Amino acid sequence: MQNLYPEITAQIYNELKDDLHHGKPADYIPELANINQHQLGIAIATADGKIYSAGQANVPFSIQSISKVFALTLAFQRMEKALWLRVRKEPSGNAFNSLVQLEYEKGIPRNPFINAGAIVITDVLCSRFVQPEFSVLQLVRKLAQNSEIDYNMKVAKSELLHAHRNLSIAHLIKSFGNLENDPSQVVKTYCTHCAIQMSCIDMAKAGLYLANHGCIPATKEYIIDDDSTKRLNAIMLTCGAYDAAGDLAYRIGWPLKTGVGGGILAIVPNMLSVCVWSPGLDELGNSYSGIRALEKLRLYTNLSVF
Ligand code: GLN
Repeated sequence: MQNLYPEITAQIYNELKDDLHHGKPADYIPELANINQHQLGIAIATADGKIYSAGQANVPFSIQSISKVFALTLAFQRMEKALWLRVRKEPSGNAFNSLVQLEYEKGIPRNPFINAGAIVITDVLCSRFVQPEFSVLQLVRKLAQNSEIDYNMKVAKSELLHAHRNLSIAHLIKSFGNLENDPSQVVKTYCTHCAIQMSCIDMAKAGLYLANHGCIPATKEYIIDDDSTKRLNAIMLTCGAYDAAGDLAYRIGWPLKTGVGGGILAIVPNMLSVCVWSPGLDELGNSYSGIRALEKLRLYTNLSVF
């Protein structure tokens, strides 16, 4: 099958490249609004070090919520069991930036991949690392083996200037006693790690540990253990696409994490890590064409976790 990946990625790109006008880029972060949405990148990374890519797979994009996977990984390294007293692992069925559930569930977010949950995870990192956003960046650089990956500070600042919702979420969590640090500091850290930018190729490489029992294949370093890796994948499958998680589990069926920059990281355990990117978002904030590319990839490879 692997020898068909070059053909399959090229085919998917060719089938979609003239049909990228669906959806629209996120505009609540002004710096993301002006991107050319007629772009699609696809990159597959396999444990033997091979990369198969097509389209704009080398163009850096804003990883946004995909950074929540790496933040959670760092938190897992420090305190896996105790985390679940502060955040749950249930799909939310609500928008990624919703406040409603948080009020009646007393400041305990549904899962680490909606904004409320990621803000609690970021708070955990703020209590444990001197420069928590840099710890996330360092982890990403190590995973992708690319020390040039960086934040886009314009995007971080642009989001911070419009972070009223995330600040409200952080203050509400604080009012329930579930935030250790200052809400503005936590949201600043959160927006900064969301503003990391990297290409599909780097992202596919960075995700490989999730397809390889927690171990970076190239260096043989374990980032988290096998058991935690399985659990992280389970949370990605059930909660990785906010209120579209059930639909995408049905249509694609792989653990994945989406971001409003238009990227999606998806994992086929024991096989591969794949990143697709296309900036036009559907009404739930997930990449319209990215989802279509993954649907096609699942169909053409027939790879499944089931
Ligand atoms: N930084 C973005 C936000 O908090 C991330 C959201 C996302 O990618 N879904 O709104």
